Amino acid sequence: MKVALIGVGQAGGKITERLARFDANMDFGAVQGALAVNSAKPDLQSLDVVDTKLIGADRVNGHGVGGDNELGTEVMQADIQQVLGALDGRVTSSAEAIVVVAGLGGGTGSGGAPVLVHNLQQVYDVPVYALGVLPGRNEGALYQANAGRSLKTLLREADSTLLIDNDAWHEQGESVEGAFETINDRIAKRVGLLFASGEAVEGVGESVVDSSEVINTLRAGGVAALGYATEVASEDSAENINTAMTVSRQALLTGTSLPDATTADSALLVIAGQPDAIPRKGVERARRWLEDETGSMQVRGGDFPLDSDRLGALVLLGGAERSDRVQAFMERAREAKEAQEEESTDHAEEFADDRLENLF
Ligand code: GDP
Repeated sequence: MKVALIGVGQAGGKITERLARFDANMDFGAVQGALAVNSAKPDLQSLDVVDTKLIGADRVNGHGVGGDNELGTEVMQADIQQVLGALDGRVTSSAEAIVVVAGLGGGTGSGGAPVLVHNLQQVYDVPVYALGVLPGRNEGALYQANAGRSLKTLLREADSTLLIDNDAWHEQGESVEGAFETINDRIAKRVGLLFASGEAVEGVGESVVDSSEVINTLRAGGVAALGYATEVASEDSAENINTAMTVSRQALLTGTSLPDATTADSALLVIAGQPDAIPRKGVERARRWLEDETGSMQVRGGDFPLDSDRLGALVLLGGAERSDRVQAFMERAREAKEAQEEESTDHAEEFADDRLENLF
């Protein structure tokens, strides 16, 4: 699937750059163009393979919006024509989808990404997806509350929102900040493979996935999740039947970007590896297992020929918002928002001391 990527905010820019770099290093050619948008100049200066666009210069002078996502919304609204102008022709001419990437807990990405998605929907006919990073459990209340509002708005605006939970794709015990490198690397590789898997590969069997299967899986809208796992494979496909099943189970049950998301409206199972090593029977069995497990009748499947001694499974879920994980997150975000409001009431009460008079 040929995509144009637009990263908004710090995390958005860094992940976009990683994705563009991975796609170029692998020679996939799925990423057609990449742009990073930010209100913080230093964050843009640290990127080198993507085009950049500074917004809100007159409001925040290149210093960013802090954790104020309402200000993030405002600066994107004010400069939206410049951002669309920066995309015109360069980033979007050959794209089959546009993907807006952002950390949902901060300010510029959290507030700006939904505005950008909304405006892209007015201008382009191709689907506009969001790739959103959810704050981990231990990130502060402001992050949770910001991400809740951003996610709610993205779900209204985007054709589908692929969620990566910051608690999902790193090792236990590693701090979230320390894990950013690992997480970003995995996002680049896994999401990068998903984009590339939808690219037609000349001269290989007819079971190869194409772009329309990715797009049709995401047509369910709402929340999407991505799972991934690999195992060492044999050169003989008959010996890989169980391996195809094992990697598919691991991808859904332990390798997903949204832990515990197993209920979905639609799914796509991509088995990646040497074409001769991919077991037809194993792929079909794993696809049927995925149907049972997700409760979806719409489970697509296909191969992705890749020069590797491993067999990998990539599971894309569409319409996964009913999962416990999303519900638990929204609850956390609501609580954080309420706590913030209570806190501000308390401060006001503390100063409502009528033994002191106001100055004016
Ligand atoms: P912005 O620049 O104002 O949009 O804010 P950030 O992009 O820093 O967003 C903050 C949120 O994104 C928090 O939930 C962070 O944990 C998360 N975040 C920041 N940087 C990274 C990163 O490099 N990788 C990942 N996975 N998450 C990040």
